[in-house]
Amino acid sequence: MIPKHYELKPVEPVDTTGMIMTAALMCCGLCDRVISGMGGPGNGIVCEPCGELLKSGALRNIVTWEE
Ligand SMILES: [Zn+2]
Repeated sequence: MIPKHYELKPVEPVDTTGMIMTAALMCCGLCDRVISGMGGPGNGIVCEPCGELLKSGALRNIVTWEE
């Protein structure tokens, strides 16, 4: 089962060249919650609760991204 998540365009893409990944975990870009043990690492992916906060505007002016 694929968990729900939202894909965002990262405002400041992180250069991961040379970084050591211990596992291909897909983590939330906001709270580091592990979304999935596979399919990652994903840039600009946030978990469902954070996605809901973003959609509701609760994080406006805190988190920004390009539409
Ligand atoms: Zn999150």
